[in-house]
Amino acid sequence: MQSLTNRSKVVVKKEMSFSERIYLPAILGGLRITIKHLFKKKATIQYPEVKREIASVYRGQHVLKRDENGAERCTACGLCAVACPAEAITMTAAERNKGEEKLYREEKYAKVYEINMLRCIFCGLCEEACPKEAIFLTDRIVPTEFKRGEFVYGKDKLVEDLNSRIDVTKRQTPDVIDFKKISNVQHNRLSN
Ligand code: SF4
Ligand code: SF4
Repeated sequence: MQSLTNRSKVVVKKEMSFSERIYLPAILGGLRITIKHLFKKKATIQYPEVKREIASVYRGQHVLKRDENGAERCTACGLCAVACPAEAITMTAAERNKGEEKLYREEKYAKVYEINMLRCIFCGLCEEACPKEAIFLTDRIVPTEFKRGEFVYGKDKLVEDLNSRIDVTKRQTPDVIDFKKISNVQHNRLSN
């Protein structure tokens, strides 16, 4: 049959020569390529012992920030979940009780806050949608797990550790917030 692309190649099954039958030239050719690569600069790194330098605005694992007094900033308004195109965020809101002022900054807080890292596409729209500067993506890479359920990150993994605060100043660019993009996403989701 006539080929449409004209790129077909007719394979001829010819007898193998003596040198082809003993495979020695092919083995030597393979060794030559292996030895050549031994002296080339390595393209791989010994992760996780060695880590590549990544951009300060890299969009990796999320953090739920605390304020300067250590109280959780999130007020469970749900805007991040609405903005999320992958529907990766879920939460349950609760009312702050008396005496919990140091734990939660506002009267309403997220009792449960979960992000499914398998659904997340690390677009950063949740960060842009948050009016409380509570959620940020960081330069941390989501580690591998063996079970799917372990990729659903709850507050235990998301809320900032008071003893190792995460600097997000490079991500705080208020004049870059694209409200038009967020409202377009919300509009599309509500009309579907
Ligand atoms: S980064 Fe994007 S996909 Fe991931 S949780 Fe935030 S909005 Fe959703
Ligand atoms: S992270 Fe921000 S947008 Fe999301 S629920 Fe909390 S306060 Fe609202």
